Amino acid sequence: MHELSIVADLFTIIEEKAQQAKATRVTRVKVLIGELSGVVPELFRSAFHSYKKGTIADKARLEMKITKIKFKCHSCGKEIKAKDISSPDFSYACPFCGSKDVELVSGRDLYLEKLEIETS
Ligand SMILES: [Zn+2]
Repeated sequence: MHELSIVADLFTIIEEKAQQAKATRVTRVKVLIGELSGVVPELFRSAFHSYKKGTIADKARLEMKITKIKFKCHSCGKEIKAKDISSPDFSYACPFCGSKDVELVSGRDLYLEKLEIETS
């Protein structure tokens, strides 16, 4: 399952950060899930809660936020949001100036945004 390997990677990061911060417990984990990441939030949540058992994040709460797709046009500098893209088969061209020099700046990956810890 896709979500399980993502959760495993996430826990590697969580444990690294917790160790750096000398945490005794992780209480809250906040992740940003990109619309295009292919992660199904409900599958991710259940994978998270089964994986956390026996880790430093054993009792951690999980918060998920979906990040919307956003492009930036390098020609005119405008931000292109999903609602600006009327066609369902958006051709990766800027709807304002027609340039193809657009870059996906948000909505692709899964990020660990925030970790709340206890140190004693
Ligand atoms: Zn443009």
